Amino acid sequence: MIIVMRTAAQQADIEDVVGRLKQVGLSAHLSGGEERTVIGVIGTHFPEGLRDHLEAIEAVESVTRITRPYKLASREWKDSQTEVKVDGFWVGGSNFVVMAGPCSVESKEQLFTTARGVRASGASVLRGGAFKPRTSPYAFQGLGREGLELLAAAREQTGMPVVTEVLEPGEVSLVAEYADILQIGTRNMQNFPLLKEVGRTDKPVLLKRGLSATIEEWLMAAEYVMAGGNFRVILCERGIRTFETAVRNTLDLSAIPVLKRLTHLPVIVDTSHAAGKRYLVKPLALAAAAVGADGLIIEVHPTPDTAMSDGPQSLTLEDFDDLMGSLQPILSAVGRTLPVPAVLASA
Ligand code: PEP
Ligand code: MN
Repeated sequence: MIIVMRTAAQQADIEDVVGRLKQVGLSAHLSGGEERTVIGVIGTHFPEGLRDHLEAIEAVESVTRITRPYKLASREWKDSQTEVKVDGFWVGGSNFVVMAGPCSVESKEQLFTTARGVRASGASVLRGGAFKPRTSPYAFQGLGREGLELLAAAREQTGMPVVTEVLEPGEVSLVAEYADILQIGTRNMQNFPLLKEVGRTDKPVLLKRGLSATIEEWLMAAEYVMAGGNFRVILCERGIRTFETAVRNTLDLSAIPVLKRLTHLPVIVDTSHAAGKRYLVKPLALAAAAVGADGLIIEVHPTPDTAMSDGPQSLTLEDFDDLMGSLQPILSAVGRTLPVPAVLASA
């Protein structure tokens, strides 16, 4: 429910409304605009007649129900686009944030070579998996804590903030010690204990779309994180399961303009996992930028043929540089620019 206060409302009027909400077990989120205060109301049970009572208050201008099942993530709740701050720049708005790096952190040399290369080509965030969610239990599971330490060392070297996946609620505090952005992978989009746990942190969360999740289910997952108090959610479309076998997943480009209508959260696109094949990564990335995405996340490896995971979809450093060059005219056309991380900007 959204309560819009009149322009003439005083602080005491606002406190009165908030007090009444608390009395019936509801919580209030205030957003003070230049002209008037808007109170968002969250709770599981709205007592009968509450709306009428609120509407009868002199200082209240209007009371509207949020019709969507997700509340905090909806445009009804917040109409202006959310920009998520990461290390001195924002994901969203006029920025186009490119996150790039290997699927898995494999060694210091592999990570540092990739980090330096993608930075030189214009990436703003370094990606790399330390805890890997592999389909086969016999496949490489990631370097774990050692991988996190290497990511932190690469951040020191390059000034790029780091995004990495967290698989389990019990590992959130460990990963949050090292990461600038916590990634929730596609297989965990509806791992509710994990969503609640990252919702208790103050780190930005990169929430990938579930393999077979509808947009509404995805936004409900974002709502879990936000309901815990963490509003710094970045959505990531990474392709969904369809009958098509020519590609690893089907990239749902229409999800981007749909999300722009339904939610204020920024949305980036992972064309690597959508494509599964190197030659598709660039055309899909250009399309994602053209259709209104707020950024990309791309897998890059110095020698993809020797990669311990996702080599066939990983770009070489040269491929990635070519992609970034081709992106420029599209970014100019859509009025976006590549942000520079804080450390680098001041260097
Ligand atoms: C990844 O980013 O390496 C990954 C495993 O992605 P997804 O969860 O989208 O499959
Ligand atoms: Mn991967």
